[in-house]
Amino acid sequence: MDRTYLIKPALNADYPVVDYGKGIYLYDLQGKRYLDGASGAVTANIGHGVEEIVEAMKKQAEKVSFVYRAQFSSEPAEKLAEKIANSVPGDLNWSFFVNSGSEATETSMKIAIQHWQEKGKPTKNRILSRWVSYHGITMGALSMSGHPARRARFTSLLEDCPVIPPPYCYRCPLGLKPEDCGLQCARELETAIRRIGADNIAAFIAEPVVGAAGGALTPPAGYYIEIKEICDRHDILFIADEVMTGFGRTGTMLACEQWGVIPDIVALGKGMGAGYAPIAATLASERVMEPILNGTKSIMSGHTLSANPQSCAVSLAVLEYMDDQSILKEVKRKGDYLMMSLEQLNIEFPFIGDIRGKGLMIGVEFVEDAVSKKSFSRDINFTARLVNIAQELGLLIYPAGAGIDGISGDAVIISPPLTISLKEMDELVVLLKSALTELS
Ligand code: PLP
Repeated sequence: MDRTYLIKPALNADYPVVDYGKGIYLYDLQGKRYLDGASGAVTANIGHGVEEIVEAMKKQAEKVSFVYRAQFSSEPAEKLAEKIANSVPGDLNWSFFVNSGSEATETSMKIAIQHWQEKGKPTKNRILSRWVSYHGITMGALSMSGHPARRARFTSLLEDCPVIPPPYCYRCPLGLKPEDCGLQCARELETAIRRIGADNIAAFIAEPVVGAAGGALTPPAGYYIEIKEICDRHDILFIADEVMTGFGRTGTMLACEQWGVIPDIVALGKGMGAGYAPIAATLASERVMEPILNGTKSIMSGHTLSANPQSCAVSLAVLEYMDDQSILKEVKRKGDYLMMSLEQLNIEFPFIGDIRGKGLMIGVEFVEDAVSKKSFSRDINFTARLVNIAQELGLLIYPAGAGIDGISGDAVIISPPLTISLKEMDELVVLLKSALTELS
């Protein structure tokens, strides 16, 4: 064998090789420092190199890292399920642990379908979703994702789950003004349900704040109340994909809480392990689980590493750290500060079209013309260039946008670890400003 290869996102690109991380910074082997302005992919919520987590990992590894869930339960898994149930609103008391956000959304879809089967309604098996969305890369999760660029090569294998437009107020897909739209984009769900037939639909899934596909698209007040009300009226379960928004990213354990909505099923991921271990979860309410408990008594899904004690111990330690440091309390204040600082850039750089978000999940959308909101042509590759220049300058930001659909533009997500200080946020904004200046 002459050469061996590690497959990276861009096969022909040279990536810096990371050495270590501490707090909000990563360092490569050359000693260059990067401010992690995106927590990787909105994941490293408590920053890098946190000693308490390293200690918890070591302690668990010394006891046992893996057991097969059909043979053993474990203390970390039991405690984690209990702590999560006590930290989220409502009676989302059932946790099913998996290893990635894609697995969590696919498990959500399967639990929803199984719920109706066990209730004697097997035709209720379609899942509806929105365009400009991302629910994961495996085929079931991709079926639900309204992300044309990621779907394109696999359409023959995918279900047509996306049926309604997103709440994208900056570029309302229905051409309405947020002041007097009457939440028509939420009502589109009712129209879709009537067309498809509630008897054929198990659930509707949505990201409370749209991440990768749109760049922190934040719905108008009342949107999720309307969505939940429509779902309830038609006996359709509401799945919140909180893989990116959950675990405190927007200032509460679930983003949905902030609109007073309790989902029937929730998918969690990313911040759950905060990058220290692969772990994700599907939470289900008592109502969702009841027919399954009275019927098959088992969720018809699972993975070899589901609920492994090592990952569960990490997630438990992350939650305990978040409690000890009162991290959630500060997210709104920090988010407001960062939003305000970014809005200053708006004045200087006319190609900033929109700044939106919740907590420490902020999206910045770029346009060729701020008045007409005309997007940059694809061959300009604005976002990719900005992300690369920023990384050269020592700032990591996350590219967003669903591509090739004509409605979502060039955006980035700014989502530093929730532990970032005000001073570090100032540094983030200075670095971003330098990157934008290079692009101007
Ligand atoms: N759901 C949402 C909202 C996401 O943002 C992502 C990943 O970006 C996923 C699901 C898929 O998670 P994973 O990449 O861990 O499979």
